[in-house]
Amino acid sequence: MDRVQMTAKLKEKLSAKRFEHSIGVAYTAGTMAFVHGVDYEKALIAGLLHDCAKYVPNDKKIQKCQKRKIEITECEYRNPELLHAKLSAVYAREKYDVKDEEILTAIACHTTGRPEMTTLDKIIYIADYIEPNRAVLPEMEIIRREAYTDLDKCLVHILHNCISYLEKKKAVVDPITQATYSYYMDGMM
Ligand code: FE
Ligand code: FE
Repeated sequence: MDRVQMTAKLKEKLSAKRFEHSIGVAYTAGTMAFVHGVDYEKALIAGLLHDCAKYVPNDKKIQKCQKRKIEITECEYRNPELLHAKLSAVYAREKYDVKDEEILTAIACHTTGRPEMTTLDKIIYIADYIEPNRAVLPEMEIIRREAYTDLDKCLVHILHNCISYLEKKKAVVDPITQATYSYYMDGMM
């Protein structure tokens, strides 16, 4: 399946808004790939499909992951919405015929991040946050510039803002997000 066919199929599955977001992530990731020396075709596909299973209802997300013996963390059981990342990687493989492990990993970790992210992982995580359809979040202008100049700085900036936002509204912070933040903060010292 080529990228044009993937796009047509995705359009049938997602709401207009989520589809536009996916296109935004794809092209943002593509331009970041130009700058950071990553295969832009991989960045486009990972961006396009990063939310491809987001439409699956939450209880079904759990069922479908269980059926495939995908590990579900404590935090994911409590917030099944988080599972859309792992399930989107599964759907990319099963329904969109993606075999490239780098693409699949980038999709799987796009909501929480992970320690030791690849450049492609970072690009998808960041592109998801900064793509043009996104509501303008605090410091967005600076974060968007960092995305093209300093990936790790940008990543830490986004993680920091996400974690403090979640803490402020007393929501749970996934331990993997916390671990990712510590890992990259240490790396900056
Ligand atoms: Fe997502
Ligand atoms: Fe997204």
